[in-house]
Amino acid sequence: MDNFNLGTVRVHRIEEWRGKFSPPCELFAGFTSAGWEPHAEEFAPEYYDPASGKLFAFLQSWVLDTGTQRILFDTGAGNDKDRPNLPIFGNLQSDFLGNLARAGYQPEDIDVVVCSHIHVDHVGWNTRLVDGRWEPTFRNARYVLPLADRAYWDPQDEASQPGVVGAAVNAGMFDDSVKPIIEAGLAEWAEDGFEVADGLILRSCPGHTPGSMMLEVAGTEHSAMFVGDVVHHPAQIYRPEWNSIFCENPEQARDTRRAVLELAASRESLLVPAHFGGNHMVRVLREGSGFRPLLNPL
Ligand SMILES: [Zn+2]
Repeated sequence: MDNFNLGTVRVHRIEEWRGKFSPPCELFAGFTSAGWEPHAEEFAPEYYDPASGKLFAFLQSWVLDTGTQRILFDTGAGNDKDRPNLPIFGNLQSDFLGNLARAGYQPEDIDVVVCSHIHVDHVGWNTRLVDGRWEPTFRNARYVLPLADRAYWDPQDEASQPGVVGAAVNAGMFDDSVKPIIEAGLAEWAEDGFEVADGLILRSCPGHTPGSMMLEVAGTEHSAMFVGDVVHHPAQIYRPEWNSIFCENPEQARDTRRAVLELAASRESLLVPAHFGGNHMVRVLREGSGFRPLLNPL
């Protein structure tokens, strides 16, 4: 689903990358075959490739056009970034800006950039390489970033304390994709309840990173929750106790995931995560004491 409406807000999906990522046993902390096998067939072929045994993943952003403001939610991995410990997203040469243009938007049309969290695959297009320097890609935008992620990911800040996996895969990220935004005076730091625009509210979802946030959109017929990396794959709707190996605070990430799934189920809201294949969004249905995903939600 590449275009849909949430009340008066027109939503466009902007794809950056798609591919086979890793086998479920390598992405999920806490993975068990017994937890995976019953659902493997349901996830093939759009979320899981049985031939290679790998999960499909997407890098995608969302433009939310309110009619008066154009908000870009998450900015993928970016081009030309040196990622020695995450080569799959290193030195990409994607046509992300071409895809943005085909949706009807030039970089200078974007009024607000929101990053769900500060991670290598959510801040990349914040900047682009111009004459050997990292320049803000969206020069007319204010960039809304989670305050609780700022010191945590800044290698020059003594409060910086990413976990071993996080520090490795995000090496270089703050300096090439966040610092230039701060230095350009474009950064705005958000906490729980931050109002991006009328009816578009950021809510704190800590765990995957300390500052992780979701964007709630009230809508009319449908409400939606753009949840970033609270869930990486629909298997985690069956298994909310499975974190990704990239979750910084495992216990908090599990608590947040359960709470968000509970909220999505009770509101009958669209759940729009950052990396889902298929329709790129689901609904969350209650099943017994847990949940199951509805993969065709519209
Ligand atoms: Zn991510």
